[in-house]
Amino acid sequence: MNVCIVGTGYVGLVTAACFAEMGSTVCCVDVNEEVVRNLCNGKVHIYEPGLETLVKRNYSEGRLTFTTSLADGLKEARVVFITVGTPSDEQGNCDLRYVDAVAREVGQKMTSPKIVVDKSTVPVGTADRVRSIIAGELEARGEAIDFDVVSNPEFLKEGDAVSDFMKPDRVVVGTESEESAAVLKELYAPFARSREKLIIMGVRSAEMTKYAANCMLATKISFINEVANICERVGADVSEVRMGIGADSRIGYHFIYPGVGYGGSCFPKDVKALIGTADEYGYEARLIKAVDTVNNDQKLVLASKIKEYFEPQGGVKGKTLGLWGLAFKANTDDMREAPSLELIRELTALGMKVKAYDPIAGERAMDILKDNSLVEIVDEQCEALSGADCMAVVTDWNQFRNPDFEQIKALLTAPILFDGRNLYAPDKMAQAGFAYFSIGRKPVA
Ligand code: NAD
Repeated sequence: MNVCIVGTGYVGLVTAACFAEMGSTVCCVDVNEEVVRNLCNGKVHIYEPGLETLVKRNYSEGRLTFTTSLADGLKEARVVFITVGTPSDEQGNCDLRYVDAVAREVGQKMTSPKIVVDKSTVPVGTADRVRSIIAGELEARGEAIDFDVVSNPEFLKEGDAVSDFMKPDRVVVGTESEESAAVLKELYAPFARSREKLIIMGVRSAEMTKYAANCMLATKISFINEVANICERVGADVSEVRMGIGADSRIGYHFIYPGVGYGGSCFPKDVKALIGTADEYGYEARLIKAVDTVNNDQKLVLASKIKEYFEPQGGVKGKTLGLWGLAFKANTDDMREAPSLELIRELTALGMKVKAYDPIAGERAMDILKDNSLVEIVDEQCEALSGADCMAVVTDWNQFRNPDFEQIKALLTAPILFDGRNLYAPDKMAQAGFAYFSIGRKPVA
């Protein structure tokens, strides 16, 4: 099948590469000339395990092409996927300007029937909005070309995007048209070989499903973080509590790891967007609002522990923090809404220096933090700790999980560790002679 993907970011490029790998002919369109030039030269601009191999193979075998021209992308395509960004606007609502721009251009440039698919995360009602924008443009051209607009939200997670796309838990398709449903079924057949994986539903239900899924996951994180904060105050250990509640099959162990709060390009904005949508329809989403508030506070929990520790020594001013991890989670270079940024902002505002290391996200972090003279981003895990007054871990990269604590002690001026991901066992840290502070567990002083 001939497919056009508009927007070659984390979702668009993964979708394109995976469709091409399964035999579709895919043309990717992006407005960013540098991104398109790099992709044509085999350079993939985002980090996602396995993606580069897929892109290079399918490009060289001619199933995957890249262009800045939507007209070229549309020419042969039966299906057009919109995978552009949908960031928050100033009020926290979903900013649809990029989706609108693509819809307008599709309406202006399409010359044959199309199925237009919203894969970007968009509020309920957006398929209708895209439909009326395209219809308006066709009318202005005096053309009557057949088209449909379908919702097909994406559930991949960064860091596992290729394998999530290749082996999805489910593929949701929102459409009232049997013909569109049949085309998408054919396209997704290699990925959803068991029938139950492909769930066809109404367009508005599909749009809502994406927000409900992300809000549910965000709720689990804020819930366990709140439990962790209570554990600290009552002398309980959240790791033990997690085991105790996860054993209940109605609850389960997934997604109840306490930490420094969720970040990334999806949960924060999607939680806010659903609050906004509910508001627009006259409903106050109290639970989801609380999820957002708890998360904003949680991003500062580690900074509070560091400030509190150094308070008796006159505060953090002039001290240096060695920081492991900048990306919002492991296996990605994505820095959007990363909790590390809040930690760095809070501590450098008080005059603390930060020497930070991340296996992949260092360069992106540098772009964001370049004006902060108290931040240095280094290339080596050990270098971040050398001469630092304490260390903190905020991203759960595998290479941070089992470090050489004797070496760490030799690098730091004092063995003080703030663990935002509960990667280490408190009793082992006590044996190793560390002052150790984690989330929802008794400190080792
Ligand atoms: P991204 O920012 O990585 O990529 C978006 C791309 O679209 C950019 O390359 C940009 O240049 C391009 N673009 C913008 N306007 C364009 C236009 N008019 N024509 C062509 N290209 C244009 O975004 P992303 O992280 O891939 O997210 C895309 C959508 O998918 C969002 O709605 C997001 O919420 C959703 N989503 C993201 C993830 C994720 O993990 N990143 C997961 C599921 C869903």
